[in-house]
Amino acid sequence: MLPVSTSSSINRHSGISSEFLTPAMPTDTSGVLLRMLALSEDARRQQAMSGEKQIMPLNLMTLLLRTMKLLDSSSLLHGQRIAAISSGVAKLMGWDDGQRRQLEVAALLHDLGKLGVPEHILKKPGKLNSEEYDFVLLHHHAAVNLLQAFHTDPAVVSMLSMLHHDFDSAGINVPTAGASTDLPLGPRILAVADAFDSLSSPKPYRRGMTHKEAISVLEEKSGSRYDGNIIRTLNRWFEAEGDSLFRFADPFQASETRLEMTDQQRNEAVLLAQFINVLYQFQVLYDGYFVLDSNENYCIWSDGMPSMTGLPLQSVLGRTWQPVDVQLASLTDDKPSPESREETMVGQMLKNGRAQFGSRLCRVGDTRHLKVDVYTMPILASNGSVQGTVQLLRNKSGVRRQSREYVELKLAATRDPLTGVANRGQLETQLRHMLEDYHSHEGTRNLSAIFLDVDKFKRINDNYGHQVGDQVLVDMTRLLQHETYSGEIIGRYGGEEFVVLCPDTDLDAAVRRAERLRHAIQKSSIGGVSTLTVTSSFGVSTAKLGDTVQTVLERADNCLYRAKETGRNRTCWETEVVDDAALKAAAVQEQQPQFAEKDGLFEFREKIEVSTSLELTAMKLQAFIREYKGDVLSIDHGNMKIRLGSLSFTRRWGSTSAKQPIDVCISFGTMRSVGQIDGKPRTVHQVSILVVPYGKVSEAEAFAGRCMVMMRDLRAYLLGS
Ligand code: GH3
Ligand code: MG
Ligand code: MG
Repeated sequence: MLPVSTSSSINRHSGISSEFLTPAMPTDTSGVLLRMLALSEDARRQQAMSGEKQIMPLNLMTLLLRTMKLLDSSSLLHGQRIAAISSGVAKLMGWDDGQRRQLEVAALLHDLGKLGVPEHILKKPGKLNSEEYDFVLLHHHAAVNLLQAFHTDPAVVSMLSMLHHDFDSAGINVPTAGASTDLPLGPRILAVADAFDSLSSPKPYRRGMTHKEAISVLEEKSGSRYDGNIIRTLNRWFEAEGDSLFRFADPFQASETRLEMTDQQRNEAVLLAQFINVLYQFQVLYDGYFVLDSNENYCIWSDGMPSMTGLPLQSVLGRTWQPVDVQLASLTDDKPSPESREETMVGQMLKNGRAQFGSRLCRVGDTRHLKVDVYTMPILASNGSVQGTVQLLRNKSGVRRQSREYVELKLAATRDPLTGVANRGQLETQLRHMLEDYHSHEGTRNLSAIFLDVDKFKRINDNYGHQVGDQVLVDMTRLLQHETYSGEIIGRYGGEEFVVLCPDTDLDAAVRRAERLRHAIQKSSIGGVSTLTVTSSFGVSTAKLGDTVQTVLERADNCLYRAKETGRNRTCWETEVVDDAALKAAAVQEQQPQFAEKDGLFEFREKIEVSTSLELTAMKLQAFIREYKGDVLSIDHGNMKIRLGSLSFTRRWGSTSAKQPIDVCISFGTMRSVGQIDGKPRTVHQVSILVVPYGKVSEAEAFAGRCMVMMRDLRAYLLGS
């Protein structure tokens, strides 16, 4: 239990009468709601008293912003930058001062829901996965409902309630009709400003993007996720006034610093978190709810209510409850609704002060009914008097929101344990859904897949150890998550292979996305080892009518294979015109054996492709070892280490004999299909060879010569028939 301040004076900073904040922290839902109603009624009084319409009572605004600043100052700075950007953009678009003020307040408060989100999610490095994102989004809606209860300007409430709507799904759903959707301009401006500022801000594992880079990222999604016109206006504003943003630069760069808080401030923070958490519970457990104060004024009309009653938020804000608002009829008799005031559940609850529960038919507009469970709960003062009402509705006709346990079980079965992204099964399920959607729109909505594979990952494991290898995979996932959009799905397909599914993305755009990811990987320091540069190869395919999960992925994988063949760290895509000569040249280059010398140590690497079965290859290899009187030093999982030759009596590695000792590590790669021969699929497996000298070598030439001779013989054994 937190220490509770005993001061009974007015809080000088916030101006909130301390009776609302200082009593012991409520521990039950009703206690929390009672406290919220007290602030709500106070806000209503203030709004009624002030002659000029305020966006929100000043003391509450101060309370919210101060708490946000104390808990996470960098997030408030982010809000201030979004406010500056949005307001500047809106001015260029001809908004008047009053409208811009609303936009600024919405920007400042756009992360209010985070006050109720546990720290391990907020401070998680990298982007949130889709479930965590939903969790934060539900807290956002809970916070918007809290703003309703604080009698915030309806324009601000409605802007914030639409903030995370997808630009094209909110409207009439014509993909090309971008700018003509129903989503109002306010949330669209906020969405662009928010994304722009997030991209420009540095993250622990990448620098912030330049203004040009951020704009080009936004433009990639213009027309679907972001409004192109707003992006262009933002660009204009930034060139003229972007410097003003330095006022809100983050001196700590997303640091962990928390400012010192007084007991009073800590209580306020806890209380706000409790408000948001109670409203979050309602949000998760029910499909719609509303809250009335002691005068039956609406305090909250949740975002689920309009679809259950046909009444939009604007039609109830600022007025008292009427029996006809939510028309509930008994399931059995066909008593005509609306009922009289006393007959309603709210009426009965107000009369006897007891919670009411029952199944009803809820009337939506003129023609439709929903089967609902209704729970009507009094908010009671300590003396037992009814101070307010909560009515919670659960829709039994439609698909319900899922319970947490179910969600968590589902998560475990669908996530890759190392990286936390979708596993292969989940990835294929998601792609199947996307393909169904694609076919149901007769292929008019694009869908692309990006397949990527880390280059020479085995070498990273060999040189730095498995732990660094694992870290590379985790870092890589974070980077991918950060570079992708919320509609896109990232999955780990296998070892060091990832797939990104991109809905509403055509081949061209997907290739650009892949190239951006490729650059991002190459530029960043992945794996925590400064000398390590990680690159990846990419293959891109786009859905065609008749495609299945397998065909889409197979085409992307084939392109990926071509990217590997033609030199790695590149993107190949289907329909790409392949330059045969370049392919051959690259293949020859790839065949070139590689010598390396580091600190007087030598090594030699080569790969050969063998098209016979593994068993046959193993037999040929045994014959080679016998012939050379080699010693097998170790065998494990497709890796074999042998020693060939022996030291001369001087126990030195001479420069003439072809029998100088070398250790040869031979690894068998996985089978790959590489096109067809006479209608039969041709498969090959790669045999990687690593040679190091045994004993001290004085001359690189001698070692190279020794390796070439050995390779000539080994090739003859493995490739000869
Ligand atoms: P290429 O450029 O041709 O893709 O070369 P590569 O070495 O990346 O390809 P290859 O498929 O030969 O090697 C993949 C290696 O990835 C083999 C395996 O030991 C390693 N690997 C697979 N899963 C994991 C994992 O979870 N952690 C670690 N550390 N390594 C893994
Ligand atoms: Mg690889
Ligand atoms: Mg691989």
